[in-house]
Amino acid sequence: MTSIMTAPTSDTLSFSPLFQQQQAHQYKVARATAKERSRKLRLLEKAVLRYRPELQEALWADFRKPKAEVDLTEVYAVLSEIRHARKNLKRWMKAERVPTPLPLLGSRSWIVREPKGVCLIISPWNFPFQLAIGPLVSAIAAGNTVVIKPSEHTPATSAVIRKVVGAVFPEEEAAVVEGGVETATALLSLPFNHIFFTGSPGVGKVVMKAAARHLASVTLELGGKSPVIVDETADIQLAAKRIAWGKFLNSGQICIAPDYVLVHESRAAELESALTEAIAQLYGAEPSASADLGRMVNHSHLQRVAGYLEDARQRGARIVAGGKVDEEQKYMAPTIVCGVDRASALMQEEIFGPVLPLLTFARLEEAIGWVQQGEKPLALYLYSRDKKNIREVVRETRAGGTCVNNNDVHFMHPELPFGGSNNSGIGKSHGWYGFEAFSNARPVYQQLLPGALELLSPPYTSWKQRLID
Ligand code: NAD
Repeated sequence: MTSIMTAPTSDTLSFSPLFQQQQAHQYKVARATAKERSRKLRLLEKAVLRYRPELQEALWADFRKPKAEVDLTEVYAVLSEIRHARKNLKRWMKAERVPTPLPLLGSRSWIVREPKGVCLIISPWNFPFQLAIGPLVSAIAAGNTVVIKPSEHTPATSAVIRKVVGAVFPEEEAAVVEGGVETATALLSLPFNHIFFTGSPGVGKVVMKAAARHLASVTLELGGKSPVIVDETADIQLAAKRIAWGKFLNSGQICIAPDYVLVHESRAAELESALTEAIAQLYGAEPSASADLGRMVNHSHLQRVAGYLEDARQRGARIVAGGKVDEEQKYMAPTIVCGVDRASALMQEEIFGPVLPLLTFARLEEAIGWVQQGEKPLALYLYSRDKKNIREVVRETRAGGTCVNNNDVHFMHPELPFGGSNNSGIGKSHGWYGFEAFSNARPVYQQLLPGALELLSPPYTSWKQRLID
C-alpha cells in the first residue's frame, strides 16, 4: 500500500483521479464500525512508533528540532490524539437520543454523526507532523476519506508523513500529496466536502474563498498575536519560567506561543530579569551552543523576524536579552525587548519567532482595552493570583483559548476544544471536537403514531387558529 507521490510540477497538478477514487470509496469507508475504525487507528499508532526515529532525523534536518521536542510536541501529541479517539470512538459514534417535546408526541428522534465525505487537510511547517496527522486521526475516526497536503517548507518530514500514511491506508482512503502553493491551489479547486486548514489568517481567507465555490465546510486553524497579561499579584518567577519555555520552544514558531507580554508596571523590572534568568537556565549562557534550541525554518522567516526587531530598535526599543542573529545557522537568540513602539511591526504582525516584547500597563483595564482593540487572538494567557482579575480578564476579552498561570498547555488537553475565533480561526479540533468537525450532525425524526401537529393542518378553522394562538 502506497500513498500518492506527486512532484509539484504543472503537469501533475490534476488530482481529479485521486479525488474521484476517494469519492467512489467514501461510502465503504463510512460504513466501518467503531471497532474497524479503531483498528485502523491502532495501525496508525504502530506506524507512528515505527517511524519515530526517522521522524526525529527528519525534523532535525528540516529545522534542527531537538529530539525531546519531537517526542513531546509531534509524536506524543499524535499518540495521545489516537489513544483518546480509540477510547471514546464507540461513544462518539453512537446515535444520540433526544427527548420529544409535547407537540411532537408520537415520534422519536436522534442525531447521527455521519462522515462529511472526502476531506482535505492542508498543514503548516511549524509542527509539520502533528498538524498533518492529528487532524487525520479525527477525520478517520469520523469515517472520512482524506487527502493531506503537508507544507513544502519541511520536505524531510513530509517524506515521513507519506511513509506513515502509506503504511496504513490505501490511497482511496488516505493519501499524501506533496507540493507548495500550486499544488494546494489545484487541490482546492476540487469539490471536497470538508477542508481542514492550519496556517496563517491570510491563506485562511484564500482557503475559505476556494471552499465557497463548492460550499465545502471549513475548519480554519489560524494564528495571530497571543498576549500574556501579568498582573501585580502574579508569581513572577513561575511566570518567567513558563513563558520562556512556551515562547522559545520551536524557536518561537508556535501558533499559541506568547506573542507579547503586558505586565503591570510595578513588576516589569522583576519580570525582565526573571525572563533573562529563565532563558539562561533553559539554554545556557550562550543559547546558540545549546542542542535544545531549534532554528528558524528558513532564511526568509529569519530575515522577517530580524527585520521586525531592527525596526523596533530603530524606534527606540531596548533589547534586554538576546538579539543575536546568525544568518548562516538560521539562528536567532531568544530575545526580550522592552519599550516597543506599539505601531511597530513587532506589535502589529504575528512574530512567529524567538522575540518577546514586554509592554507595561498601570491599570488592568488598559491591558484589557489593548487586547479588545486587536483581532481576537488564538490564545490569551493570564498570570495572576487575584480571582477578581482572573474573572474580569476572561469575561472582558475574546480569544480562541486561555490558560491561567500557564501558557501553551491547553493544547495538550484532549477534553478541551482547540481553535481560534474569527481572525484566529473558525471551528475547533482535538478529541470529540475534532470528530465533530469532520462529521455532519444529522437529525433523524421518526413518526411512530399520528402526531398532535397533524390536527393543525388546513383548513385553518377558527378553533385551530385559537389553538395555534
Ligand atoms: P501558511 O498559511 O503560509 O501555509 C500553510 C499551508 O498552506 C501550507 O501547506 C502551504 O503550502 C499552503 N499555502 C500557502 N499559501 C497558499 C495559497 N496561496 N493557497 C493555498 N495554499 C497555500 O502558514 P505557515 O507559514 O506554514 O504556518 C504559519 C502560520 O500558521 C502562522 O500564522 C501560525 O500561527 C499558523 N498556525 C496555526 C496553528 C493552529 O493550530 N491554529 C498551528 C500552527 C500554525
